[in-house]
Amino acid sequence: MSFHSGFVCILGRPNAGKSTLLNALVGEKLAIISPKPQTTRNRILGILNLPKQKGRAGGQVILIDTPGVHKPDSSLGRKMMQEVREALEGCDLVLLIVDATKQFESKDQFVVDMARKAGIPVFLLLNKIDLLRGGKEKLLPMIESYRHLHSFKEVIPLSARKREGFEILLQEVVKALPEGPHYFPADQITDQPVRFMVAEIIREQVMLGTSEEVPYSTTVVIEQFEEGPKLTRISALIYCEREGQKAILIGKGGQMLKKIGTAARLQIEKMLETKVFLELLVKVKQDWRESHDFVEELDWRRQLESLAGGGKT
Ligand code: GDP
Ligand code: MG
Repeated sequence: MSFHSGFVCILGRPNAGKSTLLNALVGEKLAIISPKPQTTRNRILGILNLPKQKGRAGGQVILIDTPGVHKPDSSLGRKMMQEVREALEGCDLVLLIVDATKQFESKDQFVVDMARKAGIPVFLLLNKIDLLRGGKEKLLPMIESYRHLHSFKEVIPLSARKREGFEILLQEVVKALPEGPHYFPADQITDQPVRFMVAEIIREQVMLGTSEEVPYSTTVVIEQFEEGPKLTRISALIYCEREGQKAILIGKGGQMLKKIGTAARLQIEKMLETKVFLELLVKVKQDWRESHDFVEELDWRRQLESLAGGGKT
């Protein structure tokens, strides 16, 4: 009886729908989502266990969501692109996802090059077909443009939001993966620590609730996380880069911070299945996105390494 497993990197430009696809496939909210580009800043694992079915072997698919491929212009941007490259390393398959409602442009070529250089099979996923009026024939010129650049193993139109095209996608993914073991226990769906997911939920509310530079200049760090029998106490710092941004994040009479806090708390309570007391503080850290050291400190994988007593670098 064959069992297929492997690592599958979800690659694409900002806003293509990578995180939406990850969440929809795993069936849990593992990655935050917003209409703004560059919402995702690090690689996110989602583990999918698929029982054997008619026409499909059983399998464990380890999906890796990544930050959108872009030209970085800060330490944070460079770190994000490093996360993309690390996600591609050691993968068995790339899912290159594109927004099918957009015209093909030169920046798309760069993403295809990245996928091609990984030297492993690549699927082209044409996402957001729910928005396409006039049927799938509209996709043909786009498929042609991509086919000129690379010989994709599969080309699959889908809608991550409406969960359309998933059956065929999963069938082909499992087929493309080698025979292999369970890499993770059957009840595990991600490798992210809860603390980090909590920070991300807060950051999502900042991304959704603010505009212009504020969402991009913001990061969230959990300062305190204390689980009690009835209540979990969480205290988080929201870092921004300027006093003006701090004023916006707090809002008139604290309105904005309250709105962010309430929305985030409800989601955290749902995830943790307990009551939560959430305290938010806003702090200015001038130009933190330019600070290599600070950006590295934000990396939870790094934090775990240093907790474990040094680790690599
Ligand atoms: P990422 O930057 O590639 O991770 O993209 P996100 O998953 O954050 O999605 C970016 C935006 O596109 C969000 O507003 C999503 O709701 C939207 N989106 C993603 N997939 C679909 C889809 O299949 N259909 C539609 N209509 N919108 C989508
Ligand atoms: Mg994303």
